[in-house]
Amino acid sequence: MTAYGKEVLMEADHVKVYYKGKDKNSGIVKAVDDVSFTIMKGETFGVVGESGCGKSTLGRALINLLKITDGHVYLYGEDIASMKGAKQKEMRKKAQIIFQDPSACLNPRRTVKQILMEPFEIHKIKDMDVEARIRELLQLVGLDEYHLSRYPHELSGGQKQRIGIARALALEPDIIICDEEVSALDVSVQAQVLNLLQELKKKLGLTYFFISHNLNVVYQVSDRVGVMYLGKMVEIADYDQLYEKRYHPYTEALLSAIPQVGQEAGKGRIRLEGEVPSPSDPPSGCRFHTRCPKACDKCREEIPELKEIEAGHFVACHLY
Ligand code: SF4
Repeated sequence: MTAYGKEVLMEADHVKVYYKGKDKNSGIVKAVDDVSFTIMKGETFGVVGESGCGKSTLGRALINLLKITDGHVYLYGEDIASMKGAKQKEMRKKAQIIFQDPSACLNPRRTVKQILMEPFEIHKIKDMDVEARIRELLQLVGLDEYHLSRYPHELSGGQKQRIGIARALALEPDIIICDEEVSALDVSVQAQVLNLLQELKKKLGLTYFFISHNLNVVYQVSDRVGVMYLGKMVEIADYDQLYEKRYHPYTEALLSAIPQVGQEAGKGRIRLEGEVPSPSDPPSGCRFHTRCPKACDKCREEIPELKEIEAGHFVACHLY
């Protein structure tokens, strides 16, 4: 399958992820609600939105780590929910995830070597020189062989994140979900990890689904950007298109928060009033209407559809 002349690697088709809230009084949480988009082979599709907007849930649903309530996710045109046995194993190799907090996802009692062995053990891979592959992985992420005997607590935050990346690369995936991958790191280390991801993408022909609450970070790495608000995708466009012209009032507000060179701090910033509503009790109509400075009666009643208003530029807003 192709779109805009490029091969489609993954497609989310009306994906919904609902679950019962943890609090016994809370209702059904609509974490991801009817989201559709495609990810082209070789691109970085960045997803941005405030904390709790459903972007991490969506990332996990894309690789079947979370069960979807409705809709479909296709990898190379095949529905991942219907994959069984060898096909499912192959899918798990092709689609990997790197988590936000490297300290929390590396077993503190295992050495780096043991951690990097894990994917080969899980997939029972014996027809390969695993030790040589591990040395190659370390080299790819800019670490040395002496790191193999280290434990996670002996590594810096950046080094731990590099181990997380090496582990995700072990089985030669096609797509990696990067979930808030650099948000726990210092700004200088963030830049190094982002550069490493860019290098690896070029060298290995990877595709990324890059999740962040920070539009500045998403902008640095993405070819296309999807903006999420309260479980909905509200705008999708190429990086260049979005930089030049964004349509959705929420995207406008997010972008206005990025400091511009030569601009007085805070000038031009659109401050949104109010809190993000709960996904277990989302507002009627457009979910953004309770905070949108341009809301009208129709916005309170009708859910706006995500429509292509220019080639490749999708917006969910009644204004367009
Ligand atoms: Fe604002 Fe209405 Fe557009 Fe929603 S549909 S973003 S409330 S103008």
